[in-house]
Amino acid sequence: MSIVRQMLQEGSCLSNPDLLSCPAMQARSEVVARPLELVSDPLAIERVEMRTVRLPLNEPFETSFGSIDSRLIFLVSIEADGRTGWGEVVAAEEPRYSYETVGTARHVIQDYLAPAMLSRPVAGLADLSACFASFRGHNMAKAGLELAFVDLLARAREQSLSQLIGGTRARVPVGVSLGIQPTLDELLARVERYLAYGYQRVKLKIKPGWDVEVVREVRRRHPNILLSVDANCAYTIADEKHLRVLDDFDLLMIEQPLDHDDLIDHARLQSIMTTPICLDESITGPARAKQALEMGSCRIINIKIGRVGGYSQALAIHDLCYSKGVPVWCGGMLESGIGRAHNIALASLAGFCLPGDISASSRYFAKDVIVPEVVVTADGAVEVPRGPGLGFEIDLNYITSNTVSIEQIEGSKK
Ligand SMILES: [Mg+2]
Repeated sequence: MSIVRQMLQEGSCLSNPDLLSCPAMQARSEVVARPLELVSDPLAIERVEMRTVRLPLNEPFETSFGSIDSRLIFLVSIEADGRTGWGEVVAAEEPRYSYETVGTARHVIQDYLAPAMLSRPVAGLADLSACFASFRGHNMAKAGLELAFVDLLARAREQSLSQLIGGTRARVPVGVSLGIQPTLDELLARVERYLAYGYQRVKLKIKPGWDVEVVREVRRRHPNILLSVDANCAYTIADEKHLRVLDDFDLLMIEQPLDHDDLIDHARLQSIMTTPICLDESITGPARAKQALEMGSCRIINIKIGRVGGYSQALAIHDLCYSKGVPVWCGGMLESGIGRAHNIALASLAGFCLPGDISASSRYFAKDVIVPEVVVTADGAVEVPRGPGLGFEIDLNYITSNTVSIEQIEGSKK
């Protein structure tokens, strides 16, 4: 059991060959090879399309924020030179995980980001990021457009997303995130089921009243699995004694136990807990990641492209953590296959050495918006596609049949 702690000590979590081979921590001084900044011919984007699509969930998903039974997917596509690039805005309908919502993202894209993107040719990812920089916040809205742009760029170069951003893995290890269940028995049944599917790590959502005893029982039944918990900000530092009990269960990490914009109390909690703290909600960009690591607020970072503002910021956080030997992994936001394909590409980078929340499409949806769907292998991995761009076909018929709204923003030259 102590293997998990051994893996994480001094950032050497990557030496467990059964988990995955991750050269990141042995090669910290290497620069990540990435041609992304290079765009020889600036791209004139001709059109931005925003589309919302409602997909029913296979089963309700409950976190400490509440429960949902369908997902309003927000897709963005951009067009240039006869090609289309696809991205996804991961904001939810309600401002619970983040202040952003589908409604705020639509407003910010329509009135600010898309006009800025359409106003002049874009000379690469860094240029696009600079184009958005004067607009404060709204990272998920920015990310949706960055994702679409990077897909477009990859298609134009006939490269996969992974190739374009400097990914090094042919397959990425994945874990499952299990929501709060009505009963412990139902949770235990789900743990069994997803372990049987091959998932390499089980993450339990926790909240006050659904934490220590639940974790104790899962750990008792599964003494050797990689097990972690995610509180989604449900505790305060006043709960530190209670949270310290979680040190008894040899958890891979405890994710975001305290407030969404806190670093100070997390540093205090980390100083008295042996379990590594992983920050999710608190890491809104590279500057926050740097502060969190300098303050000792966490030992692991969950990178979500949407939360941090797109590839430009996600790559910067990855590179920072990689240089410091800090493990990162790719979180999930109940994305459709389009967001999921971007997550797979991101998780193919060298520093993503812990299993990501990149489930099979069927984990959440009866049918996905891409073909083929994302599948998890029997040994708990997802293959990184090699085709151009996303590496999956877009199922436009299925998207159209579930579309709730569609809006287009045209460039001036059209
Ligand atoms: Mg989380």
